Amino acid sequence: MTDNIRVRFAPSPTGDLHIGGVRTALFNWLYARHNNGQFILRIEDTDSARSTEASTKQILKALEWVGLNWDEGPRIGGDRGPYFQSKRDDYYQKALEYLLENNRAYYCYCTPEEVEKLKKEAEKKGGQPLYPGGCRELSLNEKKKFKEEGRKPVVRLRTPDTGYTIVKDIVRGKVSFDNSLQEDLIIVKSDGKPTYNFACVVDDFQMGITHIIRAEEHLSNTPKQLMLYQALNYKVPEFAHVPMILAPDRSKLSKRHGATSVDEFKEEGYLPEALINYLLLLGWSPGNNEEIISLETAIKKFNLADVSRTPAVYDTKKLTWI
Ligand code: GLU
Repeated sequence: MTDNIRVRFAPSPTGDLHIGGVRTALFNWLYARHNNGQFILRIEDTDSARSTEASTKQILKALEWVGLNWDEGPRIGGDRGPYFQSKRDDYYQKALEYLLENNRAYYCYCTPEEVEKLKKEAEKKGGQPLYPGGCRELSLNEKKKFKEEGRKPVVRLRTPDTGYTIVKDIVRGKVSFDNSLQEDLIIVKSDGKPTYNFACVVDDFQMGITHIIRAEEHLSNTPKQLMLYQALNYKVPEFAHVPMILAPDRSKLSKRHGATSVDEFKEEGYLPEALINYLLLLGWSPGNNEEIISLETAIKKFNLADVSRTPAVYDTKKLTWI
């Protein structure tokens, strides 16, 4: 019997929800609906300098407009959820204590300038420009001295110096990452806030996420996250990294390529069903040449293994039949 499938869409509220984000949300939603599982919405707002309430509102409205409803979350007024990372400090704190107690993480007192210098020195010596881990074994006296100087430390994860970390990905197959190219990962910033990788792993575990379906741009974060799963003794979920949507000239999609924010499509008069249909067929095929596919059929047929490995090319001309 397969476990109850739980997936999540985890946008950072640092700008409008764009079509790439909607497609990621859509694939997660379809996977949950196909498997009678749960689709969770998590707002990743730990970066208080870049996160805005306006973006959060826009994301929620845009998801509602395209009909991607989420299943659970804390009660906010009469409604459910979403989850906000900014309200989950206790979980990160507990995980941090576990890592520090078990000597899997340590305080690093180096300033960003010092780290830059150390990286340059390492490179000059013919090595990789990586933080060399000088704070791994500080004595109590050294720590005391740094504290007295008023330095605000970050917390780093002790990561393996040798070997490989293998990501097993449903879309991409096995992808291998050389551990010697990975420096000790910062998991808590000097302002005490968790970094994306840390908060993400703690939440995905705490929320019982079984499948992480996200954009390919996060593939390079996955070996870092796997190191965290290992250090925290968490069960590793399945991963599926979905190829990016590229502009017609195969460059990164941006404003100059036309409408990219959900609000723009709304303002231009597109129907949400049309946008969803277009995004669905961009990188996934129901196995025939159908150009219009109902959500019911998509729910029945959706399978992660059928997601294309090659980047999808965005061309709004294909939206004109609507
Ligand atoms: N907050 C990340 C983003 O918006 C989410 C990445 C993930 O799904 O793990 O890109």
